[in-house]
Amino acid sequence: MNIISNYPMAKETTFKCGGIAKWFVEVQDLTSFANILKLHTNKLYYILGNGSKTLCNDKGYNGLVISTKKLNNICLENGLVVCECGVNLFALNHFLAENCLKGLEWSQGIPASVGGAVNMNAGSFEYSVGQFVEKVEVFENGECKILNKNQINFGYRFSSLKNFPIFRVWFKFEKGEKSEILDLQNYYFNKKTTSQPMEFGSAGSIFKRKGDIIPAKIIDKLGLKGVKIGGAEISYKHCGFIVNKNNATASDVINLINLIKTTIKNKTGIELEEEIIIME
Ligand SMILES: Cc1cc2nc3c(=O)[nH]c(=O)nc-3n(C[C@H](O)[C@H](O)[C@H](O)COP(=O)(O)OP(=O)(O)OC[C@H]3O[C@@H](n4cnc5c(N)ncnc54)[C@H](O)[C@@H]3O)c2cc1C
Repeated sequence: MNIISNYPMAKETTFKCGGIAKWFVEVQDLTSFANILKLHTNKLYYILGNGSKTLCNDKGYNGLVISTKKLNNICLENGLVVCECGVNLFALNHFLAENCLKGLEWSQGIPASVGGAVNMNAGSFEYSVGQFVEKVEVFENGECKILNKNQINFGYRFSSLKNFPIFRVWFKFEKGEKSEILDLQNYYFNKKTTSQPMEFGSAGSIFKRKGDIIPAKIIDKLGLKGVKIGGAEISYKHCGFIVNKNNATASDVINLINLIKTTIKNKTGIELEEEIIIME
């Protein structure tokens, strides 16, 4: 396994900015993942999927980043779809269409890995990934164990797997018509590209919804759309997103997050909670 030192996290996150990780490694299989976790027991590490909800502080990350990008096997097993954690949702959607399996079309366009999507229970249009999970293989104290769906809690952008490195996930989908699946995938993809600023670096929605409170609506109502700090800007297209408009630093993004939180707290009393994860 090749452990690289001083690795720029801008290369590995969809925000395309941020500091340097002290060490970086791409695990290749179950054994190398297990070994690196054993070696790093009680040390600082961060498991990175596709980096689409992650921002690395400009000061850098003083630990090991374990990238799962190479863990991208996907297959059918007794009617279930088995994905290693690094499979991205575009590849999973392609596999599902090829195998005439429906249910996940709404996720077309979310730039997540399976591990990140299950860990955070990614979702949109009232669906979420957790609904389709049958079982998950995780590491606990360096050993593998299987958790069945009745042993896992999924909530809004939450799973009880937060502290478990995920290696593999078994999903259950219904049989469908390939052409209908492809049409729906395109429908949702187009919906996302017309409503979200896909053309710039970002990490999707910065804040979690709070019950019925939709952060983007309040940000818009308070006239914050288009507000900039350095190269970071509150998106005009979807003001729940901050975009990397012009060589933003992580500090630009973090300062803009704090500006939004303070303005909303002062003007409405609402305390927003970040959905984005800041590595520090
Ligand atoms: C343009 C755009 C649109 C988006 N649209 C949506 C949307 O519609 N809905 C939505 O929910 N999100 C959306 N997102 C956000 C993002 O794609 C999701 O939050 C996704 O779940 C993050 O997955 P990831 O693999 O990129 O995670 P990362 O950013 O790599 O990691 C996120 C968290 O998951 C953990 N993690 C990653 N892999 C594993 C693993 N194998 N085992 C254990 N923990 C792991 C990390 O440690 C971290 O805590 C969007 C992002 C962008 C940039």
